[in-house]
Amino acid sequence: MAEQKRDYYEILGVDRGADDAAIKKAYRQLAKKYHPDANPGDKEAEQKFKEASEAYAVLSDPEKRKQYDQFGHAAFEQGGAGGPGGFDFSGMDMGDIFGDIFGDFFCGGSRRRDTTAPMKGANLRAAVHVTFEEAAFGCEKEIELTLKDECKKCGGTGAKPGTQPETCSKCGGKGKVVYSQQSLFGMVQNVMTCPDCNGTGKVIKEKCPDCRGTGYIASRKRIKVTIPAGIDNGQSVRIRGKGEPGVNGGPRGDLLVEVIVRPHAFLQREGMNLFSTAPISFAQAALGGEVRISTIDGDVLYNVKPGTQTDTRIRLKGKGIPSLRNKNTRGDHYVTLIVQVPDRLSNEAKEALRKFDSLYDNSLAATADSSDTKGKGKKKSFFKNHDND
Ligand SMILES: [Zn+2]
Ligand SMILES: [Zn+2]
Repeated sequence: MAEQKRDYYEILGVDRGADDAAIKKAYRQLAKKYHPDANPGDKEAEQKFKEASEAYAVLSDPEKRKQYDQFGHAAFEQGGAGGPGGFDFSGMDMGDIFGDIFGDFFCGGSRRRDTTAPMKGANLRAAVHVTFEEAAFGCEKEIELTLKDECKKCGGTGAKPGTQPETCSKCGGKGKVVYSQQSLFGMVQNVMTCPDCNGTGKVIKEKCPDCRGTGYIASRKRIKVTIPAGIDNGQSVRIRGKGEPGVNGGPRGDLLVEVIVRPHAFLQREGMNLFSTAPISFAQAALGGEVRISTIDGDVLYNVKPGTQTDTRIRLKGKGIPSLRNKNTRGDHYVTLIVQVPDRLSNEAKEALRKFDSLYDNSLAATADSSDTKGKGKKKSFFKNHDND
């Protein structure tokens, strides 16, 4: 059967000068595609997987690759020309290849962290609701949440006072157990978290009555949260050391408080800038003058230019949201002025407007004469469409 063997380079689809990285990459792709776990019961895939693994085992080893380049498959046959006793595929260390190649995608369990090392506690998450103004200018809030603390009775060991946790007999205190499994390539070793001690390396024979062996007591706590000026909806405030307790003496995790900002009645926010609309009367728009505009700092007076058209956008500099980094720097407030067309008029007002319209007609005609006579018909009679009710 040796004469039927395909060329190792051909199997991996690389050329003879390929470097280690290229060989590894090619093998990873094939192994992923043909791995028995991904193709259960597929004999052809299994065969291809074995073939690729064999090719990789040889080409990834500089010494074996040299022999293969020189003598071909004959290098690894019994009594072959170059091999020191030949190369026995079944005896090669698949553990190395698996650690190397599959460590990060097939055998997720085999590269677990050391479960007995000190580890920072998990982060906790909470949310706090604030008003639009509180987010803009900052505030202090208090939230209530359940926090775990070390049990005072047992000092966090979980063992009944007067007793001590014992070293786990199943894993010998390592927190991990090694299982050997028969596979296509012989024995494969899998490292698992010890089921008896859940990876802690210790077992508690007599549990502490206060914490029931967990080592922690949970209680409701009130925590002060400083909301910085300029924070936006969905952003979080981190409070260090208010998360879950650390493991094996590690530090506590953090508390991440998401800030949920209530919408404002008339202000819209985009980053540091604010947007709103403000009504102005027809007379104010035509004549100009002071109008009252509501901002996040309260009402301000703004001088509208004579002849202001509807949808004109004005900028109130520095009336926006403070910067999160420096609250003295503020965004701007953009106001879109909406000219109000009166819809309920007294007879007296109607009369005044009719009079205005006739005057407006004349003044338009006077200006249009010199430039654009065609525009006259369209421009005049702004009110004619509205006064026939
Ligand atoms: Zn306890
Ligand atoms: Zn154990």
